[in-house]
Amino acid sequence: MRIDLHTHSSVSDGTQAPREVMASAVEAGLDVVALCDHDSMAGWDEASAAAEAFGLQFIPGMEVSTRVRGTSVHLLSYWHRRVDPGVVAMVEKTRDARVGRTQAIVELLARDYPITWESVVEQAGGAQTFGRPHVADALVAAGVVPDRSAAFTELLRPGSAYYVPHYAPELTAAVTTMRAAGGVPVLAHPYAGRSGAELSDRVIERARDAGLVGIEVDHRDHTAEQRGRLRELATRLVLVPTGSSDYHGTGKPNVLGENLTEPAEFARLEAARG
Ligand code: AMP
Ligand code: FE
Ligand code: FE
Ligand code: ZN
Repeated sequence: MRIDLHTHSSVSDGTQAPREVMASAVEAGLDVVALCDHDSMAGWDEASAAAEAFGLQFIPGMEVSTRVRGTSVHLLSYWHRRVDPGVVAMVEKTRDARVGRTQAIVELLARDYPITWESVVEQAGGAQTFGRPHVADALVAAGVVPDRSAAFTELLRPGSAYYVPHYAPELTAAVTTMRAAGGVPVLAHPYAGRSGAELSDRVIERARDAGLVGIEVDHRDHTAEQRGRLRELATRLVLVPTGSSDYHGTGKPNVLGENLTEPAEFARLEAARG
């Protein structure tokens, strides 16, 4: 059983439509795949239908933008009810904030680089959730940088003169909201924070007390040493360790199935469904 619990489509900042992500998942030899677009569930129907046609097990997921003392923290959630009013209100507020924030970044960049809001909207091509990757794509299209990664190294990184943060709910509030909607919350790449900041044990323990079920351990942004410490932490806090690719199509080097979740750990997640 090859289980990859973290992928993105063009509904957020992936480069493939949901059905294309499912087709690529079959090619990569996956048996189970979760679609976790940032702050949106708009890809679920298309992905689910495609997965069914391919004989692939589809897990409906989402990567929720949250904050801990001003720092951006990502929370995965699986199987939550998409019509839950708490979930809908939370992600709509974040998506709205992301639009204004992206416009603010573009205004700052436009002082020094050939970039317009229209070009970013064009690059986003119908995405439900705006993010820095769409700004990166506009910079690539304008010939300012060769690829997304290059845009993030300098211009779009936190701390850059062009960086603007966006509103997001507190981590524990997001955990509570997803759990109340029947979801299974899993902390995404907890030691891969911007500027290399690791979430503290205390923060993770508080999230666990709020209903967190798992933590992403095997992720390309974690070193072997960090994975070891996260696995120990998962055991100590009785959290389910997961592994995944965080696939974004051609937007990132991450390849489907490069990290996987053990079937026994996946079963623990399933058992926690609300
Ligand atoms: P935002 O949601 O606007 O804060 O942007 C964060 C997103 O940018 C993450 O979800 C990643 O998908 C993407 N990202 C971060 N760093 C890089 C990078 N070095 N190369 C490509 N994409 C990146
Ligand atoms: Fe992303
Ligand atoms: Fe993330
Ligand atoms: Zn992700």
